[in-house]
Parts: sequence; structure tokens; C-alpha cells
Amino acid sequence: MSQKRLLLLIPTTTYRTEDFVDAARTLDVDLVIASDRPNTMAGEFPDHLLTLPLSAPGAAVEEVRKFAARRPLDAVVPVDDLTTVAAAAICRELGLRSSPLAAVKATRNKLRMRERLAGSGVPSPAFTSWRTADVPAIVAARVSYPCVLKPLVLSASRGVIRADDQAEFVAAFKRIAAMLASREFLELGEGTDRILVEDFIPGREVALEGLLVAGELHTLALFDKPDPLDGPFFEETIYVTPSRLPERAQAAVRACTVDAARVLGLTEGPVHAELRLGPDEQGRDRAWMIEIAARSIGGLCSRTLTFGTGMSLEEIILRQALDLPIASLLRDRRAAGVMMIPIPRGGIFEDVEGLDEARAVPLIEDVTISMHKGQEVVPLPEGSRYLGFIFSRADTPALAEAAVREAHACLRFVIR
Ligand code: ADP
Ligand code: CA
Repeated sequence: MSQKRLLLLIPTTTYRTEDFVDAARTLDVDLVIASDRPNTMAGEFPDHLLTLPLSAPGAAVEEVRKFAARRPLDAVVPVDDLTTVAAAAICRELGLRSSPLAAVKATRNKLRMRERLAGSGVPSPAFTSWRTADVPAIVAARVSYPCVLKPLVLSASRGVIRADDQAEFVAAFKRIAAMLASREFLELGEGTDRILVEDFIPGREVALEGLLVAGELHTLALFDKPDPLDGPFFEETIYVTPSRLPERAQAAVRACTVDAARVLGLTEGPVHAELRLGPDEQGRDRAWMIEIAARSIGGLCSRTLTFGTGMSLEEIILRQALDLPIASLLRDRRAAGVMMIPIPRGGIFEDVEGLDEARAVPLIEDVTISMHKGQEVVPLPEGSRYLGFIFSRADTPALAEAAVREAHACLRFVIR
């Protein structure tokens, strides 16, 4: 069999490059990497390093079409949120395996996603949407509380703010509008002139990591988020798998994700869904869809997962896209935890103390600091970079959770 050729679409601001490139190496494929900024080596390796306008999918499709005429591609895989739409557009053009473009687009615009889910039977918060140019005090009088305000097109909880009353609403609205007006977001184009307002859904939150194969959802892992996410900002901290929820609740989470994928039209590839177990109209618990994305889990969190005899999540994703056999979708039995290290305050990151002690905590697999010294640390709701990640593996989820907490307690961040 001849070697297959894989194109990875890698946004410049992703944590996912190394894990996907490692997975591609184990597969012995001809790897082509495309990014939106020119790589200094691109001129030397025109068949392996491409520069593509990834935020302008139409133009990216055209360039890849020309490339593929010369060097046919077997799969195109986006490694993160920012490249899912471009990948789906390219796959459509080249006839490669992917969810339909319209479905992927709907996952990248929170308003479009709510519109699709509304009235579909998938529990999804009631919502309204407003222009950033609207008068906040007028809008504040027309929404119900508590609510959550959010931009349509960002991720990692950026710009997501809870408001319990009109005064909080006005402050949150202005803060998000100011963010969206900054230069960084102008190039995102569509959607940056609106703010979505949703009912706040109380309850425990979980994340489902899944793989769609020919329209069928395989649940790869269900993560509990043991720290309450009640706002006003929603900083991710600990994820632990397997879930400690009763099987009935887990089944409800899976069913809700299956339904949401079907309603949106997602059919192939990874999905990462966030759900809450909150009350229905009768006050009984049910699963609410907060968000479903056509990508795998973010940050370095996928390192908690291995399948069968040690296959990574990235390898599974690549194998599915390339139509290569996957031995097993069963996660390794041990419990695993990861903490996205919370940002204590803004400033310039100078140093971290206690790293050796943290790494020496029993059951800790790794502690990775992802900020560089001298880099600016920006807390939510404006920020987007994590300080780092703490990984644990244990016989039970409770032990995995306790270990990451203990390791975190060893760390002291010096932020000037
Ligand atoms: P992002 O794509 O930036 O992650 P989300 O819509 O997923 O944006 O919101 C981030 C987090 O904010 C969610 O994981 C959840 O904890 C909280 N959140 C968002 N919307 C709601 C809501 N309607 N009710 C309760 N919590 C919410
Ligand atoms: Ca989310």
C-alpha cells in the first residue's frame, strides 16, 4: 500500500501541534503542515510546509486544491477550533472525510448553534442576541436573570460572563463589547459585532469527548469538572475521568450529545461537548447542551487519555480521517485527572516555585508550565493562555482529583 498523505491545519495559537505531529509520525504518513503564518523553513520544504489563509476558508480551499492536484491528499485534519471550518471546506472540495461544512460552521458560531438547537428537542438555554452597539441599559431591562453574556466566536470561556442583575449586565456587556472592538478580534470578522445572552443553567458540568464515525457517536471519555463553575467568569480548572455521575445521568449526557450532533448535522470526526446537569421545568435533573465543538479537547488535556494498548487520542483522530484501522476505542481503565492551572492574577510571569515538589506528589504524571518567563499573564474574561497543566493517574477518580489539587498546592507563581 502506498504511503498516505495527511494535511494538518495548525493555527498559530494552539497547544495541539506537538501531540498531533507525534501521532502523525507514528503512522508513517507523508505529513504536510499548513499554518497561517509563514514558517521560516517553508521555502525549503514546499511539499511539506504550507502557508494558508486559514481565516479565509475560500482562499485556503483554492490553494489546497492546487497543491492537491500535484500531491494528492488522503485526509485534512484541523488540530483546533480555529481551523475546523477551513478543514471542512477543503474536505468538501476534495471529497475527503469530514462533517458537512454547514454543520461545522454552526459549531463555530454560538448564536447559530443556539438557533439550530432551539425547538429541536435538545435542551439548550433560552437566548437572545444583541448588537455590541446597542445601549446596554436598555438591553439589561429586557433580559431575565441570572444570565450569561458571551461573544459568538471566541473559545476557552473568553468573554463569557454571568450577570445576576441589571447593573452586572451593563458592566459585562460593556466589557465584552470593548474586547470585541480590539484589534485582535477584527480579523475574525463575522459575529464580532454581536453578544449572545443566555439563561444561566445551574448544575454540575461535564465534558464529553467523542468520535463520530459515519454518523454514529462513540463516547471516548466523559470528564467531570469537580470545581463548581458558577461565574461570574468560567475558568476551567480540573477535569477528571471516568465520571463519578450515576450511570443514568451519564446516559442522559450521551443521549443529549448524540441528539445535538444529529440536529447540527455533524457526522465525522472528533466532538468535544460541554453539558450541564440542571433542572427541567419540573425541577428534575436533565442534561443541557452548553456547547458542542467539531474538534477534540483543548489545551494539553488529551494527554489524560490513552486507548487500547496505548494509542493517543490524536492517533485515533488521524486514523479515522485516513481510513486506517483503529484497534480499540476503549479508554485505558485507570482514572486520570488534569488541572488547567488557574491564573491567580494578571501581570508578567516571572517564575514558578515548587515545581519539583509538585512533580514528586504521588500519582502525578507530569506538571507542564506553558507560559514563558516574561510573558504577560491575562486572567479571564480577557485572557486566553493557560499557566500550565498538571496530570495525574490513579485507581479512582477521587484519588486522581486529590493528586492534582495536592500538586497545585505546591506551586507558587511569581507574577509581577
Ligand atoms: P467557550 O466556547 O468560550 O468555552 P461556552 O459557551 O462553552 O464558551 O462557555 C464557557 C463556560 O461558561 C461553560 O463551560 C460553562 O461553564 C459556562 N456557561 C456558558 N453558558 C452557560 C449557560 N447558559 N449557563 C451556565 N453556564 C454557562
Ligand atoms: Ca466551551
